[in-house]
Amino acid sequence: MSLLDTLIARSVPLLPKFVVRRVASRYVAGETLDEAVAVIRRLNAEGCRATVDLLGEFVKDAGEARANADAYSGIVDRLDSEKLDANVSIKLTAFGLDLGKNVCLDNARRVVDKAASKGSFVRIDMENTPYTDATLEIFTTLRRATDRVGVVLQAYLRRTPSDIDAHLHLAPNFRLCKGIYREPRTLAWKDPATINRNYVHCLRKMFAGGAFVGIATHDEKLVFEALALIDELKVPKGRFEFQMLLGVDDELRKIILGLGHPVRVYVPYGRDWYGYSCRRLRENPKIARYVARAMLPF
Ligand SMILES: Cc1cc2nc3c(=O)[nH]c(=O)nc-3n(C[C@H](O)[C@H](O)[C@H](O)COP(=O)(O)OP(=O)(O)OC[C@H]3O[C@@H](n4cnc5c(N)ncnc54)[C@H](O)[C@@H]3O)c2cc1C
Repeated sequence: MSLLDTLIARSVPLLPKFVVRRVASRYVAGETLDEAVAVIRRLNAEGCRATVDLLGEFVKDAGEARANADAYSGIVDRLDSEKLDANVSIKLTAFGLDLGKNVCLDNARRVVDKAASKGSFVRIDMENTPYTDATLEIFTTLRRATDRVGVVLQAYLRRTPSDIDAHLHLAPNFRLCKGIYREPRTLAWKDPATINRNYVHCLRKMFAGGAFVGIATHDEKLVFEALALIDELKVPKGRFEFQMLLGVDDELRKIILGLGHPVRVYVPYGRDWYGYSCRRLRENPKIARYVARAMLPF
């Protein structure tokens, strides 16, 4: 990133909301499930799978957490009735993790049971480190009942290689990503090259341990490393897929598809778009150009 891009990325919380919304619209399918379904249908037609994220997190009210679980159950039903090649991704803080593990587990279990009954799948996104232990505990409890649930691990965390070891006995379905939250140096690697090395190290452990892996990255170097590992370890086709975010590097998505590998696209939608959009904006290496364009009145 250039110095200007880095400065603007750090100032995202100061940007007017209309600017964030304009620039981030490429990352979000819309505000309604109908809009998300239209995007998924297009992605399926292009040969991509999808995973749906109903935007929202850090819920402090039990009724709201329950309503989020109900909404997700409705999404699972809709994906099934429309015969879309798509599953759901959930954030446990939207299901009441701040209100207690049991509240959250009950809500998550309802969605996982619904997904399992439809032959679908629930991915538990990984949030910031105050929630890592609880997220892995809830994943473990749910996984003991069904294989229709998986979790995300973050390569920037120093603990991730041992988290892999601790969960391999579950024959887990992992998504591996770099990690998006601001974490202290005591917990997270900070140097991009080290994060990449840890990503490859973790991916190797996951493959060698027999896990399914959603290889979630737009970093071409990591895509290359993943392909090399798949080749070296002779990882069977059904044991991995690549995963990318809506609105990021469509060309790389097509390249991976062209190589004959499955790609799943993360499709967020909903009214609570601000937090997610800020995180995406901060990662856009050309943020200065996009923000300048969004400031124009036409
Ligand atoms: C499917 C999926 C699910 C994810 N789930 C989680 C999760 O549960 N928890 C979590 O902490 N993180 C999650 N992430 C985010 C992830 O941790 C990274 O923050 C994000 O993917 C950027 O990392 P990267 O591997 O693409 O590498 P980067 O080095 O950040 O990006 C590589 C290249 O991709 C392009 N790029 C990346 N982001 C953008 C952007 N916003 N706009 C334009 N171009 C961009 C740029 O060309 C950049 O040079 C997820 C990512 C994906 C793809």
